[in-house]
Amino acid sequence: MKLTIIGAGPGGYVAALKAAQLGAQVTVIEDTEVGGTCLNRGCIPTKALVASSEALHKAKNLEEFGIEISGNISPNLTKIMERKNKVVSTQVKGIRSLFKSWGVNLIEGRGMILTPEKIEVQKKDNAIEIIETDKIIIATGSRPAQIPTFPFDGEHILSSDDALNIKSIPASMIIIGAGVIGCEFACIFKELGTEVTMVEMMPRAVSTEDPEISEILEKELKKKKIKLLTGTKVEKVDGQHDGIHVHLADGKELVAEKLLVSIGRALNTENIGLEAVGIKRGARGEILVNEKMETNIEGIYAIGDVTGGILLAHTASKQGIVAACNACGKEKKYDPSVVPAAIFTSPEIGSVGLREHQAKDKGINIKIGRFQFRSLGKAHAMGEIAGMIKIIADADTDKVVGVHIIGPHASDLVHEGALAIKTGLTAKEVADMIHAHPTLAEGLMEAAEDVHGEAIHAP
Ligand code: FAD
Repeated sequence: MKLTIIGAGPGGYVAALKAAQLGAQVTVIEDTEVGGTCLNRGCIPTKALVASSEALHKAKNLEEFGIEISGNISPNLTKIMERKNKVVSTQVKGIRSLFKSWGVNLIEGRGMILTPEKIEVQKKDNAIEIIETDKIIIATGSRPAQIPTFPFDGEHILSSDDALNIKSIPASMIIIGAGVIGCEFACIFKELGTEVTMVEMMPRAVSTEDPEISEILEKELKKKKIKLLTGTKVEKVDGQHDGIHVHLADGKELVAEKLLVSIGRALNTENIGLEAVGIKRGARGEILVNEKMETNIEGIYAIGDVTGGILLAHTASKQGIVAACNACGKEKKYDPSVVPAAIFTSPEIGSVGLREHQAKDKGINIKIGRFQFRSLGKAHAMGEIAGMIKIIADADTDKVVGVHIIGPHASDLVHEGALAIKTGLTAKEVADMIHAHPTLAEGLMEAAEDVHGEAIHAP
């Protein structure tokens, strides 16, 4: 069976490897670089920058750990970017080498579906190649969404792609959008020394999270002296000799050296032949798929960001595995019921399952357990005591329905919550499980105990 995949992001490249492992003859068409947004312009480069900014923060606060340092501690952006690029290129090489090991044929160019059995590729040298195929997976992903009245210019008005390749540390930056990407960049740039102001239309930062988590993040951003204007709309942007001027709906004006626009993602659905074969799309332009990740056209699948929903690398990869299995004749369904998500702000956020208001909206009678990191010995030893763990359980069944964490290693800790929800554990079962000491995971045990008002280290 010949399978052709358009796009080699975490959706496409994982689908390619899975299908090759199942014996398919796989061709991948990629326009930029394997690894897609996630590896080249998203998850991995941002986390490399987060690691550098956290190292800088630690270095500036070494005295707290009893370490004396003489001389200046300052960021060298060129070296930080070199490290980030090396992290990315190492992973890119890894994917290319996996493609070789599994016999995946990589064609570098732009793919466009002509018919369900034919794809046209415009290669880098403009040569055209026609690929014959039995099945297709569309994994073309997304790109930064821009505001038409003040589009990205790469120099003053930046997308997240531009911010990842910035040449010098700006003295000041305005960030439009206090969602996941905006907040991550705010923490990175503030640590590097930039004065950061965020403007958010919604009433709170990271508005898709549990409101209590947003509230704690907002307090932590304030402690870092990151300015956050919520419930605030931007009317107009213009550039003047002293920088970028952002005019707010309430008549106020902000000025900064750079403007980062992080208002969401535009889906890559243009010029890939969707109309030619009659693939159906939804209200936001997303490609509509069933639980097998198949579109309305038999044998054509779509995965990842281009299908809308939760725009995350790990959901794209799981969808890729589902599509690859189905394309190879192994029936598999995508189950989005438990999706952990992480935000790499400082402190980190990890969440899974229902937010408090969502549980209430569903008519679930809930009980809540909370535990503050400041009550944990390990958090004190690490010097990271900000944040808390919140466990939401169904009061009737005691089953865990939501876990929300803000604090050190929240992105890892959240997986215990994900497993609890996925396997239907009760808060009592999580509380009864022996957790190693001293660990941050003890906080989950205590939060689960607190669901029944039984936390040992409760104040
Ligand atoms: P993409 O990764 O966008 O890949 C699509 C690929 O298709 C691209 O390489 C593109 O060049 C190629 N392509 C497009 N059109 C064509 C064509 N016609 N022909 C050939 N190739 C084509 N998610 C997380 O889970 N965790 C994070 O920490 C995280 N951090 C992020 C930080 C930032 C700054 C950004 C922007 C995103 C982040 N994301 C994160 C989101 C994550 O990157 C995406 O959800 C994920 O990359 C989507 O994967 P995908 O395979 O659907 O598409």
